[in-house]
Amino acid sequence: MKLFGAVEAGGTKFVCAAGTETGEIKERISIPTTTPEETMPEVIAFFKKHKVEAIGIGSFGPIDVDNNSPTYGNITTTPKVAWRDYPLLNALKKEFSIPMGFNTDVNIAALGEAVLGAAKGLDSCLYITVGTGIGAGAIVQGELLQGLTHPEMGHILVRRHPEDNYKGRCPYHGDCLEGLAAGPAIEERWGKKAIELSDNDKVWEIEGYYIAQALMQYILILSPKKIILGGGVMNQEHVLSHINRNLKELLNGYIEFPQVSSDIDNYIVRPGLGDNAGITGGILLASRVWKESINK
Ligand code: ADP
Ligand code: ZN
Repeated sequence: MKLFGAVEAGGTKFVCAAGTETGEIKERISIPTTTPEETMPEVIAFFKKHKVEAIGIGSFGPIDVDNNSPTYGNITTTPKVAWRDYPLLNALKKEFSIPMGFNTDVNIAALGEAVLGAAKGLDSCLYITVGTGIGAGAIVQGELLQGLTHPEMGHILVRRHPEDNYKGRCPYHGDCLEGLAAGPAIEERWGKKAIELSDNDKVWEIEGYYIAQALMQYILILSPKKIILGGGVMNQEHVLSHINRNLKELLNGYIEFPQVSSDIDNYIVRPGLGDNAGITGGILLASRVWKESINK
């Protein structure tokens, strides 16, 4: 069976993988995200060793996903200075003349989950990560959601929790969703590592209050058939009950679909592919672009 490659470029690590479109991961390595000079030679070495037909890249952002743009494939206005305006796609194209797909880390995770994970068989889902940042990717009618550029669903505005005076830490918006609810915001607000706050119910009530508002807006705008919650913060599984309760209150019976009104535990779920959602989606993206290239 043909081997396809994936690069999941994250803020803390790059994961490279080779696998099949049925979801079998043959090889997988993790490389720390330092500078392009240090990180990229290791990525290139991986694909020199593991020959693949095509590569699907999912990157932290913002990135340029417009294939008519002169800077297509670049990481753009990231706060990570070493990676600002870095031509990630071209750096790989220079080394390998094979088809490549380029999208956001969360969009490819959504693709992985839609085809082989928790949303398997559905033509629509939303994948949200709550980790160092907050981001979401969506599959709509079987395709990766894209407009002018990729969505930036982590930076929406939310209503304040009445007991939360924390100023927020998004460098662009202060108290947007990411500024209030990503891992580093939890840690700055409470002065402790998120993992050490497991027993403090107030922490997770506030967290659930914000995430629920985001989910309400995503449900109202995109109407996903399944919502998948990934990212380090979601390892605190008890946040889910706060999210579900707040979401129910917010929607207030307006969305009467049984998935939302009576079967929410099967509607808002953890990734079916665990930590492999992103690379599986990358492999699937690679197989899609490869098929397009041979049909040309
Ligand atoms: P990244 O977003 O860089 O890909 P993660 O999704 O693991 O990585 O997110 C890292 C953030 O998640 C950290 O800032 C930390 O606050 C939080 N985090 C990681 N593990 C846990 C945990 N077990 N419980 C709560 N928060 C966690
Ligand atoms: Zn923001």
